[in-house]
Amino acid sequence: MTRRRRIEGQETRWRGLGVSEGIVVGRVLRVFNGARQVYRATLDEKDVEREVRRLRAAVRLARMQLLAIKARAEKELGAEHAYIFDAHLLMLEDRKFLQDVGRHIREDRVNAEWAVKVAADRLLAIYAEVKDDYLRARGSDIEDVTQRLIVALSGERHSYKKLSEDAVIVSEDLLPSAAAELDFEHARAIATDSGGWTSHTAIIARGLGIPAIVGLRDLHRHARTGDRIIVDSQQDVVILHPSDSTLEHYKSLEKRTPRTNYTAAEDGDKPLRTLDGKEIVLRANVELPAEYEDVRRFGARGIGLYRSEFLFSHKRGMPTEDEQCEAYIEVAEVAGDEGATVRLFDLGGEKMVAFGAELERNPTLGLRAIRFSLTHEEVLRTQARAILRAAARGRLDIVLPMISDVMDVRRARRIINEERVRLESEGREVGGVRIGAMIEVPSAVMTADKIARDVDFFSLGTNDLVQYLLAVDRSNEGVADWFRSLHPSVLQSIYRTIDAARKAFIPAVICGEMASTPAYAVVLLGLGATDFSMTPSSIPRVRRTIENVKFAEAQEIARECLECETADDVEELVRERFTEKWRELFPPKSLPAPRVGG
Ligand code: PEP
Ligand code: MG
Repeated sequence: MTRRRRIEGQETRWRGLGVSEGIVVGRVLRVFNGARQVYRATLDEKDVEREVRRLRAAVRLARMQLLAIKARAEKELGAEHAYIFDAHLLMLEDRKFLQDVGRHIREDRVNAEWAVKVAADRLLAIYAEVKDDYLRARGSDIEDVTQRLIVALSGERHSYKKLSEDAVIVSEDLLPSAAAELDFEHARAIATDSGGWTSHTAIIARGLGIPAIVGLRDLHRHARTGDRIIVDSQQDVVILHPSDSTLEHYKSLEKRTPRTNYTAAEDGDKPLRTLDGKEIVLRANVELPAEYEDVRRFGARGIGLYRSEFLFSHKRGMPTEDEQCEAYIEVAEVAGDEGATVRLFDLGGEKMVAFGAELERNPTLGLRAIRFSLTHEEVLRTQARAILRAAARGRLDIVLPMISDVMDVRRARRIINEERVRLESEGREVGGVRIGAMIEVPSAVMTADKIARDVDFFSLGTNDLVQYLLAVDRSNEGVADWFRSLHPSVLQSIYRTIDAARKAFIPAVICGEMASTPAYAVVLLGLGATDFSMTPSSIPRVRRTIENVKFAEAQEIARECLECETADDVEELVRERFTEKWRELFPPKSLPAPRVGG
């Protein structure tokens, strides 16, 4: 006993973010992603083609491995998790990526490993620029596929890890396929240094119903395989080398969280309805068409928001009309009959300095989004032409970002129409597009009834709406406590906008992050929202929530929320009412937490 204590050391506590509920007492199993160092080697001209063949063989091997992992994930985790590996397969099959790698090998005469790394780094740099958390987290998919390809180039294969009964996986950052290659039966909890709510590790852990805590800084460097560990995601804490009394306390608390089943209804084709029959539409927010594949099965009805600025990158600059057209056709094709809404570039701020724009003192209040496009008219004209051409090949709509009033809409519409006429006079085929406005600026909320007469639909961007309404920078951690999505002014604004849309007989789609959180989605439902667009991974959860609540009850709660004075009051009311009515659906962690000292 004493010997063990000396080896195991002092009790230490690590704070992180609990992303999957539960308490587990177990033993550490350190898992390495095994990121390999890659070196550059210069090839002789005669070896170049052999190197390209070696790359092709590695792609085939990696593909076979991924198909096997996917089949296993499908069996053990369910189809809604296996789709992660479809994204990996798509990347492996992505002609542009492979052409890029091939070009490096041929033009720079470098080894395949190096060429894979260079092409992947370029992709990663694009992802790193994206604002959306979900999408940034997808960078780990690229790293994952890259590592697999690099290992495959060496001819090795990954092997499944056999786990002991009480294994708690401790890792720096558990890449999705490393997670899926674990023995699901025995993994009891996961603790990683990095990751967030939307990381795949979190999604998989929630799917398995095993506790997980992410964001533990450098836990993995201090933990050794076999060390005693406690994972308590209710308190967001990991305890390494717990003392006897801590151990005793936790053993009595320990309970395996009942498997939370986020599995979407198998019948994703059936319309989604609340318990009292109100039909609700869920769509996907995407930046890469590949993200949409498969979510449809879980009930996504088209792409509600395609953030086109994703096509722009520092290195490549502005995409040409043809490049854009090709990208929009791809979006329209994956979205199918349900169509996709392409948001005009939401660019601005520092990003555009490289493009000749001035560095602004206040970029969020500066030449951003539609203001940038109206000032750089050629950018708007090129994008409009590309979308109109692509719309001849599939159902596409346009949404104008950061509209402050109806003048912004009219100016943008005029330019889009001029480009339509020009394309027609050039004999080009164009498709019909509906034009909508993002309502995300307070002045647009105040004049929503006027804007509604000039557009075909509204897209409510709650991320910016909260930022601009409450004057809280959405990306500044220092003011995160003031970013209150349930602030009464936010709820009033949403209610007012939905009402203006209803009176003008146009649809209003909620496409900010609020819609991705089940508790908020129910409040939005109560405010009259029936059309939501969200990060694809949230669709199954939100779907399951909506089909288990009554619209009328949500309305009742929303009415009460609208009467509240402060965000704290709204949150408290939501906690109370949701727990009274839907205890099963909303575990305490899923509801807004009370503010300490608030
Ligand atoms: C929003 O502002 O809520 C939104 C959907 O757009 P983005 O997050 O891209 O600004
Ligand atoms: Mg926005």
